[in-house]
Amino acid sequence: MKIYDVTATIFNGMPVYKNKPEKQPTIETSTNGHVTESRITMDVHTGTHVDAPLHMINDGDTIETIQIEKLVRPVKVFDLTDVDEKISFQDIKDLDIEKNDFILFKTKNSWDTEFNFNFIYVAEDAASYLAEKGISGVGIDALGIERAQEGHPTHRSLMGSDVIIMEGLQLKEIEAGQYFMVAAPLKIENTDASPARVLLFDELIG
Ligand SMILES: [Zn+2]
Repeated sequence: MKIYDVTATIFNGMPVYKNKPEKQPTIETSTNGHVTESRITMDVHTGTHVDAPLHMINDGDTIETIQIEKLVRPVKVFDLTDVDEKISFQDIKDLDIEKNDFILFKTKNSWDTEFNFNFIYVAEDAASYLAEKGISGVGIDALGIERAQEGHPTHRSLMGSDVIIMEGLQLKEIEAGQYFMVAAPLKIENTDASPARVLLFDELIG
């Protein structure tokens, strides 16, 4: 069984959303004798992470309430590396997407080594199609699942239909197909997201 780690490494100087300085993680390490201890300050949307509905819906659910069974399960990876600008309904309408699927979109974003202001995102028409299909979750290889859409309709239609959103995946090495996923966000109370370690296994378990 092969394990693919599709998680971004967290470090000071890593790609962060729109290169905003306040989103840059800081890690302070101090050593006293033989004891080393580190303290980290970071945005909960740092690197590879899971968004909770609270991120876009004022009384939405928080990250620690997402059942782990929804994040540890089979997933389908789709190769959309031919897509430019945005993933539209036209790009996904013929894909094998079914109710309750958890899907990951691999795009050109996986080759970016710094924040790309023109990252490929999931357009509103694709998001509403996925919400209507009743998928369980969707992940993308950008730090955002949408950009340049007034009112955040992609986030809101997915979250309004209980679709889990995962962002910041690193899918360069991953071929299209089915995998078993373990996505484990930190269990932080009452937050709108959390960084997660995300692993894909090439054998389906369970
Ligand atoms: Zn996020």
